[in-house]
Amino acid sequence: MAQELKKYWKNYIDSQWVDSLSGDSIVVENPATAQPLAEVARATEKDVDMAVAAARRCFNSRELYNMRPTNRGVLMFEIARHITEMADEIGLAECLDNGKTLTGGKNEALAAARYFTYYAGLADKLEGRMIPLGADYIDYTIPSPFGVSAQIVPWNFPLQIAARSVACALATANTVVLKSPELSPLSTYFIAEACDRAGVPKGAVNIICGYGHDCGASLVSHSDVDHIVFTGSLKTGQSILRAAAERVLPCIMELGGKSAGVVFDDADVDQVINSSASGIFSNAGQVCSAQSRLIVPTRLRDEIVEKLAARANSLSVGPGIDGNDITPVISGAQAEKIEGMCQAAIQSGAEAVSGGHKSKDLAGHFIEPTIFSGVTKDMAIANEEVFGPVLSVLTYDDVEEAISLANGTDYGLCAGVYTKDLAMAHWAADQLIAGQIFVNEWFAGGIETPFGGTKRSGYGREKGQEALQNYVQTKNVGIRITSGGGGRPGG
Ligand code: NAD
Repeated sequence: MAQELKKYWKNYIDSQWVDSLSGDSIVVENPATAQPLAEVARATEKDVDMAVAAARRCFNSRELYNMRPTNRGVLMFEIARHITEMADEIGLAECLDNGKTLTGGKNEALAAARYFTYYAGLADKLEGRMIPLGADYIDYTIPSPFGVSAQIVPWNFPLQIAARSVACALATANTVVLKSPELSPLSTYFIAEACDRAGVPKGAVNIICGYGHDCGASLVSHSDVDHIVFTGSLKTGQSILRAAAERVLPCIMELGGKSAGVVFDDADVDQVINSSASGIFSNAGQVCSAQSRLIVPTRLRDEIVEKLAARANSLSVGPGIDGNDITPVISGAQAEKIEGMCQAAIQSGAEAVSGGHKSKDLAGHFIEPTIFSGVTKDMAIANEEVFGPVLSVLTYDDVEEAISLANGTDYGLCAGVYTKDLAMAHWAADQLIAGQIFVNEWFAGGIETPFGGTKRSGYGREKGQEALQNYVQTKNVGIRITSGGGGRPGG
């Protein structure tokens, strides 16, 4: 494995690695040490113009679109192969600029490769329909690409999230300008490298890094962008939607969450503890689909809270490179924000049975694994996304109340239920308002299963076959094949 990452990273525009036009760069920090790690070329409006122009030229050339879809798939299998070959190096980048363990970082690379193989296999299976209109006509639909897809990615799983959106775009013959997250951009450049090695048409995939307020904002309001894929916070999503409204652009919005697991009386408590620990402590809780609330029957509360606290206290906190359980959060500002939310929760009456603070003995940005008991539905900690290793436990006395608590936030990304009773599981899955429901295992699902939000968690679906539908628009072709006719509007 390469032991060191390069110190300076360029943007990838029109199949060239380029400096930013201004010559400016962004310093990327290692969150485990709070020390500078690398610099990346800082894209601003003019760099965005260049990237969008390259994507436009490529789209207009129809090189991707005219290709037999199965050959687009072959190209994407090649991208996957190159990502897999670079998995160790990518793992190191994810470890050092994002905070993950080396294994976690390498798994990101393998998952990214899987997105390309999954959608490579679907590239030649997206079909139109023949619609019968009688003997005088042939009518059919074409699933058409939108054009230039602007994609904005957050810092928590930059590579996987970039891969899922770029792969769908390529499978459907859209071209891409992807803005990587300024806090942890490094792994996304490997997608560009893999595209380069695989021989993706010039300008089909462009990857740039810049700040959200200038680079991101210029990209989503660019007059030559046709489609937006945004994964990130609600607030940024709302501002992008306002920009998109000007040009009536189609958007996929993958936003935040405050997802709840509901424990029924008959649940296997050890399963609840294992699933909840993974649901809230993976990636230091910086997961949009984290199980950040657990809703338990009053009679099981003490047992569950005690076991959760014991689990939290058994976890090691420290740098990902040493294989710790709780790795750093992305920045000092994020750590401050999380600690502030924990302190506010305590002031409003919640009890921190474990954690509640930043780790004082470590140089980087670490939050102790935190369990809050005694949380009630009116508290901010029960409603606002923390995006850290912080679980709120609420109690209920009847199942209708439990469902109402679970559905009681502005978000609706995921929800879960713990029960041995399959009839109850089906009932709860129907009642819970969320894009995906987990039964007895948080995160049950995968690349093959559609993922996305309801309510303020957004709309559109990524992952699974459903995602491709968000990357195409239906064009209908009606042909009069006999003489005569004359048609009538709406007829
Ligand atoms: P963020 O909204 O702050 O930033 C996301 C991206 O948007 C970054 O690349 C940022 O530079 C860019 N950005 C910021 N302002 C912008 C603007 N005005 N115009 C265009 N782009 C702009 O989010 P974050 O803090 O990076 O990520 C955490 C959030 O992402 C959480 O809310 C989390 O739940 C959400 N998330 C959702 C999913 C999902 O699939 N639903 C997955 C991961 C993260």
